[in-house]
Amino acid sequence: MEKAKVYFLKLNDIGKIKDLLPQFNDKLGIKVHFGEPGNDAFISAKLIKKIAAMVNNHPLVETSVLYKSKRRQANTHREVALEHGFDFAPIDFLDGEEGDDSLVVFIDKYKHNRSYYLGEGLQKYQSLLLVSHFKGHGSAGFGGAIKNVGMGLASRRGKLALHASIKHKVTKDECIGCSKCIENCPVDAIQLDDNKKAVIDQKVCISCSKCISVCPEGAIHIPWSSTGNNVLGERIAEYALAASKKRQCFYINFLTNIVPKCDCIGIKQERMTDDIGILLSTDPVAIDQASYDAVCKQCEDFKKFDGKAQLEHGQEIGLGTREYELINK
Ligand code: SF4
Ligand code: SF4
Repeated sequence: MEKAKVYFLKLNDIGKIKDLLPQFNDKLGIKVHFGEPGNDAFISAKLIKKIAAMVNNHPLVETSVLYKSKRRQANTHREVALEHGFDFAPIDFLDGEEGDDSLVVFIDKYKHNRSYYLGEGLQKYQSLLLVSHFKGHGSAGFGGAIKNVGMGLASRRGKLALHASIKHKVTKDECIGCSKCIENCPVDAIQLDDNKKAVIDQKVCISCSKCISVCPEGAIHIPWSSTGNNVLGERIAEYALAASKKRQCFYINFLTNIVPKCDCIGIKQERMTDDIGILLSTDPVAIDQASYDAVCKQCEDFKKFDGKAQLEHGQEIGLGTREYELINK
């Protein structure tokens, strides 16, 4: 397979993005993440505003999240977006008010699913500009372009399918009994046992991973051997292909505010390394591979985030290629 081109820009050269963007058609959506309240690592509205202005402020598109948060419903999610300064372009929540409006894409040949549930409003958009923050992620290894399109465009039903059957486990020695996971679990699947240690009822758990995000001790894990070899990452890659297939997609990854956990966690996180810059590509696998390589080159500690399943399976199913040519601009 031919190498994909991945362009690198320094953060100060953000204005050069305009020269690298393709000609989009009129049905363009800009996929962003508005940031969880309390989080400060997501790509700021100030930066997104500059990019949106380059493409005539087409709608910012997003979907609702699974877990307890103002971002769980469109009306309160919109409030968060506006509080965070995303007031310069229309906002379109693709999965409706409650996250329940799905566009079903049927595909025969993939490994994990046959039906993919995406935000219904996605059918209005023939082009997508996916602006993603690259960082570690509790259950997917890392979050970048593939996750932004695969998880970020799925409706609630799709997100549940993505997480289904993944078993979360509390490492008792690390649990301090603070109850944060209990307060945030959307289905009340967690209790403290007699020793004040959290216990997850696997029959009730819907595998949304919110508990991983909120645990201050990092005491909740996914024993990967229980999930059949990084199933979540592979499913995310399949969803990414279902969402991007038949659409013109262009990807921008910000390698800034590099933190260990995702932007859905409502706390400030210590940065793992200095900001690196911005990557751009038409290939979501190549841009995530290049992002991972660039971060690992600068920060040895980031190597512990294993997102290989997204990359390997992404390449296998034709989402993109891990082979890339990095071009400095
Ligand atoms: S216990 Fe299960 S349902 Fe509850 S927050 Fe954790 S992963 Fe989600
Ligand atoms: S959030 Fe973490 S430390 Fe707190 S009770 Fe839950 S598992 Fe234990």
